[in-house]
Amino acid sequence: MTYVVTENCIKCKYMDCVEVCPVDCFYEGENFLVIHPDECIDCGVCEPECPAEAIKPDTETGLEKWLGINADFASKWPNITQKRESPADAKDWDGKPDKEALLSPEPGQGD
Ligand code: SF4
Ligand code: SF4
Repeated sequence: MTYVVTENCIKCKYMDCVEVCPVDCFYEGENFLVIHPDECIDCGVCEPECPAEAIKPDTETGLEKWLGINADFASKWPNITQKRESPADAKDWDGKPDKEALLSPEPGQGD
């Protein structure tokens, strides 16, 4: 199994998660992060750290689409291990529905 970053991270991107991961398996897009499913060791440490509650274990049902998105972008985006400032409007986007259409395929800056 692996942990998966899901929709509510989009445009929130608080990045609290990246600092706790023991194997540094987060990758950064312009407005979203993903977990590399082959690198995640399923420790679960990141899940409670996410203020947006966007990180889920893939044992939850209905996450197949987000698992695919994590796997796809983890091979394209740069690695990130250090938290930076989250977007100024992150709080405004937390909990907003239907953010998937806003997911940018562009890479973030990484570490
Ligand atoms: S802490 Fe949550 S919202 Fe922030 S970047 Fe990580 S997964 Fe996204
Ligand atoms: S579950 Fe553990 S290994 Fe997987 S992304 Fe979270 S902190 Fe990293």
